[in-house]
Amino acid sequence: MYPNDSLENWHQGQGLWADVPAEDWNSWKWQLKNRLTKLEHLEKYMKLTADERAGCLFAKDKLALAITPYFFNLIDRNDPNCPVRRQVIPRAGEMHTAPEEMLDPVGEENTKPVDGIVHRYPDRVLFLVTDRCASYCRYCTRSRLVSNAQDYNFHPEFESGLEYIRSHPEIRDVLLSGGDPLLLSDRKLDHLLGELRKIPHVEFIRIGSRIPVFLPQRITPELCEIFKKHGPIWMSIHVNHPNECTHTLRNACEQLTYAGVPIGNQSVLLRNVNDDAEVMKSLIHRLLMMRVRPYYLYQCDLITGSAHLRADPRKGIEIIRSLRGHTTGYSIPQFVIDAPGGGGKIPINPDYIKEVTDEAIVMRNFSGDEYRYPLTSDANIPNDVNAPELETILM
Ligand code: SF4
Repeated sequence: MYPNDSLENWHQGQGLWADVPAEDWNSWKWQLKNRLTKLEHLEKYMKLTADERAGCLFAKDKLALAITPYFFNLIDRNDPNCPVRRQVIPRAGEMHTAPEEMLDPVGEENTKPVDGIVHRYPDRVLFLVTDRCASYCRYCTRSRLVSNAQDYNFHPEFESGLEYIRSHPEIRDVLLSGGDPLLLSDRKLDHLLGELRKIPHVEFIRIGSRIPVFLPQRITPELCEIFKKHGPIWMSIHVNHPNECTHTLRNACEQLTYAGVPIGNQSVLLRNVNDDAEVMKSLIHRLLMMRVRPYYLYQCDLITGSAHLRADPRKGIEIIRSLRGHTTGYSIPQFVIDAPGGGGKIPINPDYIKEVTDEAIVMRNFSGDEYRYPLTSDANIPNDVNAPELETILM
């Protein structure tokens, strides 16, 4: 059984950095400046396993190592299998590329009309605005470019991306991503969101960000004012495990929602992190407590060196089955596989339909009981009655 979700059990405080003045600790710039980015930084605070040491030495050529002090506090330094630790401390498994793994697992490079724009679906684009993040997730789908450890040399040109969107009236939805867009300065974000808002056919603007989770100090009143000014701005955050739900994150989500930003969560199903029904249930309950709607549960993409972190997708289906009907429907994310090679997101659901005949859909409910919903043929639907007929009927 996973621990009780009561707020008393959520992390708070400065942990290992208790001596740092609160003003510094609460500054996102201090957090960035004091990130743990090297083997020796980690070894100052914890004993790494041989596997982790090897992973850390390899990271500079694959995906940089960086962890904010705030997020490092959430790691159990005595448990090599800590679910937070597994997400951000590299392991030797990153050095092995399985045959099915790819540098660009969801085929973004094939749908890139200009640098920084991925245009896969007709009415929406992904706009990559930076290659930097506050901390780096070891299973990142875009590790080919994020942190530039692989010399991708991504130099986002906002103007060419904006011009592409302006000249394509079919684009109604823009997702800012990267890297993490919230690492841009307030001035740049204000400009970018302002320019997007000026485009008449852009109806929907959203931001994909793990900053609230890695660096909640970045959610400042000034940033919230920018979201209010250009709203509605929607946001997808990325929380994978209940231990990432802290009082500081809860406060950041509250500030965002007060600024009119609806928040959804996208988790990645990860081996020995959250591939367990009780852990997932605790996570989605805590998300609701933070005003965050669980949105997607992703099967981990086939990124190179991720086999040790990828869970069996059948576990994802089992988890969804264990939740549906057993907890608040609002809290249940859609499990999806982003089809390898670029087929887009495909919903993966437990099978509740037994058969569909000409007469009925035969279904099973969450506890396995069978039900039928009858299908009405068009021939049996009564025609509308006209006014004189209605008078006759009513007489
Ligand atoms: S925050 Fe997002 S873009 Fe950055 S490393 Fe993690 S998954 Fe990749």
